[in-house]
Amino acid sequence: MDMRSLTPAEMAAWVTARGEARFRGEQVWRWLHGKGVESVDEMASNVPQKLRAALAAELPQAPLALDAEQVAADGTRKLRFLTEDGRSIESVLIPEEHPEDDDGGDEAAGAASAAEGRLTLCVSSQVGCALDCAFCATATLGFGRNLSAGEIVQQIYRAAARAGRRPTNLVFMGMGEPLHNFDNLARALQLLIHPWGAGFSPRRITVSTAGLVPGIEKLAGLSPAPNLAISLNATTDDVRDRLMPINKKWPIAALLAAARRFPLAHGRKVTFEYVLLGGVNDSDDDARRLPLLVRGLPAMVNLIPWNPFAGPAFERPSAERIRTFQEILRDHAVQAYIRSPRGDDIDAACGQLAARGAPAPVPIRAAPGAAP
Ligand code: SAH
Repeated sequence: MDMRSLTPAEMAAWVTARGEARFRGEQVWRWLHGKGVESVDEMASNVPQKLRAALAAELPQAPLALDAEQVAADGTRKLRFLTEDGRSIESVLIPEEHPEDDDGGDEAAGAASAAEGRLTLCVSSQVGCALDCAFCATATLGFGRNLSAGEIVQQIYRAAARAGRRPTNLVFMGMGEPLHNFDNLARALQLLIHPWGAGFSPRRITVSTAGLVPGIEKLAGLSPAPNLAISLNATTDDVRDRLMPINKKWPIAALLAAARRFPLAHGRKVTFEYVLLGGVNDSDDDARRLPLLVRGLPAMVNLIPWNPFAGPAFERPSAERIRTFQEILRDHAVQAYIRSPRGDDIDAACGQLAARGAPAPVPIRAAPGAAP
């Protein structure tokens, strides 16, 4: 395993197994996650050379090299990283103000947010994606491989360093299906919320899924569980089957049943993302069916106008259509927001992460791990 994927307990066990004092584990772990160092040499001030050498030899890093960065007119910043095996992933820093979102604001991040505004980081969980959603640019890459927990968290530490501050919110809405990489995702969450490291509140972390029901169940079993977002994107199985093949395995009813079973802390909601595709899923009938689907569930709907990319023959609905869709939802007492495309001049918007100009991902493993 790469050294940054280990939990504090695992690091302590590794250190003591080598005959070193247990506190060395905490020191090393704090360097990797509190400071986010990129090399063991940076630990020189309090970690003995022998231990640093052993770390590098036995738990070699899975480094990410920042190999491209683009800043959009609206301040959105897209980072492209190259993994050690030459694959590209992208993370997006999104400075934003969504005064309509109530997400607690009770922790340190809330204080930062009051002073400097919210900074959301969109994180990737896989190289490419296996799910093949018809409207998504990442799907065109196919599946490359799972990211390790260490690679997942490193995106966050590196992006924070670029931004000069810790993101206030993390959303697993970058490349990949996080619940298809459940074990590494769960491990990454554990690393991110530990007080020796970045110390994120789980209330500030949202995991977005295309609808892997067993994965949602496993996520619900985590303590603490992060927020859940579900990419619904259709109101009938017929349309959803065509847009998101995963729906054939876990249709809308099964998906919503899993959402209803998800434990929600007081005041929390399940977020439903709904990519609006002109003439496909944006009718008044869709807008009237959606409230019935989420009835009784503390829910919030994010309407995402489709971000076009070369390939599929979809179109973004007119601004008026989008407004009307939102109004119908609101008339039915569903909280609904239109997500304006961020960083669209640099292809940083939702679903556009496809690491263009990078080495094409070559599938090296047949299928992603745990969840079928
Ligand atoms: N696999 C996860 C996370 C990655 S996709 C999931 O499906 O939720 C993140 C969000 O971007 C999803 O809501 C998806 O529906 C949306 N999306 C994908 N392609 C898009 C596009 N071209 N335009 C707008 N939203 C898109």
